Amino acid sequence: MSVPYKIYLSEGEMPKAWHNIQVLMPDIPGFVNPANGQPVPKEGLLGVFCEETIGQELNKSDEFIPIPDEILSFYSMYRPSPVVRAYCLEKALGTPAKIYYKFEGNNTSGSHKLNSAAAQAYYAKKQGLKGVTTETGAGQWGSALSMACAFFGLDLVVYMVKTSSEQKPYRKVLMETYGAKVIPSPSSTTDVGKKILVENPGTGGSLGCAISEALETAAKSDGYRYVLGSVLNHVVLHQSIIGLEAKLALEKYDITPDVIIGCAGGGSNLGGLISPFMADKLRGKSKAEFIAVEPASCPSLTRGRYAFDHGDTGKMTPLIKMYTLGSGFIPSPNHAGGLRYHGMSPIVSKLYDDGHISAKSYTQSDVFNAAVMFARTEGTLPAPESSHAIKAAIDEAVACKKSGEAKTILFGLTGTGYFDMTAYQNFNAGDMNDYIPTDADLEKGFATLPVLPNV
Ligand SMILES: *Cc1c(COP(=O)(O)O)cnc(C)c1O
Repeated sequence: MSVPYKIYLSEGEMPKAWHNIQVLMPDIPGFVNPANGQPVPKEGLLGVFCEETIGQELNKSDEFIPIPDEILSFYSMYRPSPVVRAYCLEKALGTPAKIYYKFEGNNTSGSHKLNSAAAQAYYAKKQGLKGVTTETGAGQWGSALSMACAFFGLDLVVYMVKTSSEQKPYRKVLMETYGAKVIPSPSSTTDVGKKILVENPGTGGSLGCAISEALETAAKSDGYRYVLGSVLNHVVLHQSIIGLEAKLALEKYDITPDVIIGCAGGGSNLGGLISPFMADKLRGKSKAEFIAVEPASCPSLTRGRYAFDHGDTGKMTPLIKMYTLGSGFIPSPNHAGGLRYHGMSPIVSKLYDDGHISAKSYTQSDVFNAAVMFARTEGTLPAPESSHAIKAAIDEAVACKKSGEAKTILFGLTGTGYFDMTAYQNFNAGDMNDYIPTDADLEKGFATLPVLPNV
């Protein structure tokens, strides 16, 4: 066996710059003002976001952006993450395919989100801010940002989607242990939260609502800005560390993936994983296939529209062109964990619209069956979100068994399932709900899409 179970980079081999795929996507649309349909200038974003990250958001000229030393040393505490050859899963499937996964769950927050949390907390501190606000769905982003804010010395207020805060009480304790203030959303601490509570009494909340609350609180608090854990281009940029490490590790053994798979909530892990591989493809140097996997209950790519939309339910953000279910779409509260966002990263959306990425969706039961098979063969208990990618990788490998092709598959195992015991408990008890929105349900969300004056 020439390829080891785990491929690590040595310290000297670690990437020192992030990869900015936007350089190869010159016609990707930017932020638009809903009032007049015109692009939002950089100055219009300064009151909301940190300055350095806005620069990264809009950067279409530098393919590689150096990672500051402070962030590199934070990364050194938990990176590199391993690329693992799933020999045991391959054997159980009886497939000729070679399956690799990049595992991002080996840090206390339990997911890839720490890669961007570290960067955003560092830039906020460098700008002299007192604190930041954010939202969290399943809790991984809030946990990651709590860790990063504790490390760099920033205050943090987290609006946590109410259903998740009830399903995952220990996530809240984790965030509080790192010093964050956690508020279940929708809440009565903001005007937008109060309004949502009046309109949808008893709602379990959504990421879109929590974002509106975090934005409002940032705008009302001196020395605060809002930070986001996915979707935006600068988050995909920070997550490119996943793809860069994976590519370097595989190249050590002359391995070139034929298929690259990632789960897609807001699109940041997928965008980051594929970034350097996609650059090769866009330059005609690779024929790799890319697959985005989403839950059937929140199908932004597979059933959404490519349109200008708000990033939040309260319609406070500028418009971004993305695949979306409409900012008024509230996903089923029965859905486990993350991947519940109405929209999709503009980078991933554009690559999908241009035909460079394909997309699939699966029901929760299918995803948890794959998760359990993975846990029992590979040992690692996967996060429900990550298990969407596992399911797609298994399906690819089973197709290889039928066709006799020995494809090389790489997928992103974005996190651990330690904090998802309620979901596993429901699955084990046979209580998993496979809700799929009807076309009529989706129409209600599409009806909330903004109508633009000039675009
Ligand atoms: C947040 C999260 C995701 C989805 O977010 P993306 O921005 O789409 O990457 C996937 N897996 C895990 C473990 C997460 O925490």
